[in-house]
Amino acid sequence: MQKRYLIGNWKMNLTAKNAVALAHAIMPVTAKLRRTQVGLAPSFTAIATVAQRIAGSGIQLGGQNVCGEAKGAFTGEISVEMLRELGCSFAIIGHSERRHTFGESIEIVARRVHGALSQAFATILCVGETLAERDAGRTLEVLDQQLAALEGLRYGSRLTIAYEPVWAIGTGRVASPDLIASAHQHLAQRLEHLGGPAPILYGGSVNPGNLREILQVPHVDGALVGGASLSAETFSELLQITDGE
Ligand code: PEP
Repeated sequence: MQKRYLIGNWKMNLTAKNAVALAHAIMPVTAKLRRTQVGLAPSFTAIATVAQRIAGSGIQLGGQNVCGEAKGAFTGEISVEMLRELGCSFAIIGHSERRHTFGESIEIVARRVHGALSQAFATILCVGETLAERDAGRTLEVLDQQLAALEGLRYGSRLTIAYEPVWAIGTGRVASPDLIASAHQHLAQRLEHLGGPAPILYGGSVNPGNLREILQVPHVDGALVGGASLSAETFSELLQITDGE
């Protein structure tokens, strides 16, 4: 049975108290999963308390970003060592909100990816085009530019890619299966030439009504979910769909 992944990105939502309650509420469902690896990315301030609550559950915890440098004068940043100490095993890097709202360039994202992977820290690298880039027929070119962050890296099994078209994130507009198929096919081919295959997740307005169809698309290994991961009921439904299809 092929392994699947469902990652909840809680963004800047939920205080530590509320995050623990949500993690606790999904645990009865995660305990029954057969092939789905579950990951949660709470805000940094909630990680420690969530980690205590989910200890031994098999749920993995991640940071929503991580600094490429190991330590030093980088105000506002969080290191791999700090995340590890809290119980995190991965970080999301290059999320579209980091790239487009906070101006993280391809170079900044590449430094983060190199830093995390060179410290043997699992990385979910987010890639995806804006609507203007898609309309200009530049989708695959943009994906290649963003994947260049991996050049020269031996990522082994520590890398996951999340294809997240910017226009589909938090908008309720999900990409069609054909669009997802062409992007994922392209990414899978490029990864073969970079450091080898890696799981590829889709992200962008995933919900219980569209996930089944998305999971049928070739080269889709799971989903990265924002809004729909904030409700225990909805996220539980997504977990069951991911595990069952
Ligand atoms: C995300 O933040 O990675 C995301 C996919 O958000 P949403 O599911 O809300 O579109």
